[in-house]
Amino acid sequence: MKESKIDTLAFVKDLLAKKLRNSLSLKLIVAIGTLILVASGIFWFVIIVRGEKQILNSSIIHASEYNSIIENSVKTNMSMGQVEIIQKMLEEIGTTGAFKEVRIYSHPEGIIKFSSDKAVISEKLDIKSPSCAVCHKDTEMKNVSWSIIKRKEGRILRLSKTLLYEPTCSVNCHYHTPSKKIIGILETDYSIVNLDKTLREQKLATITFGIILTVVSSIVLCIILWKIIIKPLMLLAEGMERVSKGDLDHKVEINTRDEMGMLAKTFNSMTTELKTARQRLENWAKELEEEVAKKTEEIRKGQEQMIHTEKLASLGRMAAGVAHELNSPLTGIVTFAHLMLKRIPPEDKLNREDLEVIIEQAERCSKIIKGLLGFSRALPTQKAKVNINATISHVLDMIKNQAKFHNIKLITDLAPDLPEIDGDASQLEQVYMNLLINAADAMNDRGQIKIATRRVQEDGKEFIEIEFTDTGPGIPEEHLNKIFEPFFTTKPVGKGTGLGLSVSHGIIRKHGGYMTVKSKVGEGTSFFIRLPIPEKEKKEQKD
Ligand code: ADP
Repeated sequence: MKESKIDTLAFVKDLLAKKLRNSLSLKLIVAIGTLILVASGIFWFVIIVRGEKQILNSSIIHASEYNSIIENSVKTNMSMGQVEIIQKMLEEIGTTGAFKEVRIYSHPEGIIKFSSDKAVISEKLDIKSPSCAVCHKDTEMKNVSWSIIKRKEGRILRLSKTLLYEPTCSVNCHYHTPSKKIIGILETDYSIVNLDKTLREQKLATITFGIILTVVSSIVLCIILWKIIIKPLMLLAEGMERVSKGDLDHKVEINTRDEMGMLAKTFNSMTTELKTARQRLENWAKELEEEVAKKTEEIRKGQEQMIHTEKLASLGRMAAGVAHELNSPLTGIVTFAHLMLKRIPPEDKLNREDLEVIIEQAERCSKIIKGLLGFSRALPTQKAKVNINATISHVLDMIKNQAKFHNIKLITDLAPDLPEIDGDASQLEQVYMNLLINAADAMNDRGQIKIATRRVQEDGKEFIEIEFTDTGPGIPEEHLNKIFEPFFTTKPVGKGTGLGLSVSHGIIRKHGGYMTVKSKVGEGTSFFIRLPIPEKEKKEQKD
């Protein structure tokens, strides 16, 4: 929230910096400001001009009314032949503040006959004067005209009015004949200094008011623009910039219900979706990485296994060849030794004993050869339905009576209802026997062996797992990857052949399974056999 707050100072700095020309906010402010200025300028100009015109018009009306009064008095005095009174009256009028000068010209001579200023009497009027325009400017004759004259002491409103001939005029007047239409022009100068002063004050007040109103409305408009458009736009722009830099947790905080609020809401939901998609992509990449690592490890193991199998296969072929070649001569040795034993009298104990040693050693050789043939898979397998638990029980029954297992506690944990598998029971029993003898050897014929069976799943396939765990000394780590190799043994010469585990592994692989070992020095050893459950068995079990 703190971060998203727009700093006004930063905004102003931003405006003054290089973004100034391209700033939308500035364009808006300039456009609206200009509009306000022009509109308010025109408005106040019209107000001032109209006001001035109205005041001037009412002044002209007032002055015209005064003029009519003067005209009437002049006409009355003229008809009565009291010419001196006219001059006196004009002098009197000239002394009042409102009138600057009052004159009466003769027509058409244009000579001043009467004036509030005695000094100008008999002066001639210029034909270009505004007063002459009353009669001469247009073809159409006018009775009244007005003009503004600028003097040093201030402006003057001059009203000019024609004095028309009336029937009463000819009665006492010896100046005019009845044929004359216009007998003179009444020219009245009014000082409008005070009026101008009032106008100036009014203009100043109007302009001041206009400026204040324009400034205030501009400020208010700017604030409204800032709050409603510019600030939300900047928040959105900031949000877009942050999102484009990868900050998908950023949220635009505009909580209004207008278009800007809707835009912010849409933007926020867009970033949320973007974040979810990115997370999904990351997870997918991670899963893919893990899968690749797993597959690579599987391939590596597979390759290792292949090399190992290849090695074993070539060794097997060699062993099979040797075993095959040795088998016949050994059979001959044993047969002939037995024949010789029969021929030697019982009292020749020394020779008999030697022959018995020959027979015993030859039989041992035979046993090794059988082992080698088993390893090389030279021995045929007879596959049938095998109940794993039954084969285990059978082996345990056999070893129970052997002295080797008298001091060993045998614990079984056999899972009931295990499906049958296709295999060679006697070969599998040979494997168990081998593992049990190895365990007993390792524990010096005393300790504990646990035999367990269970059903397990691996990569979607089902297996029967058989576990043999002893409490022996364990296998050192450096030996762990060698024990399945043929002829690897740690037993003393004459006791171990190093073929037991490799033959066992060969048998299990022939059944489609595999063997693994887990061991820690001082804690014992566990061998695991996994044999696949045939599809048919799985279905039957389910049914
Ligand atoms: P052998 O029994 O003739 O030595 P094996 O292939 O059966 O041949 O065994 C190879 C070696 O594995 C053994 O010599 C022994 O060192 C080791 N071994 C096998 N089983 C065990 C066990 N349960 N505990 C400790 N070591 C074992």
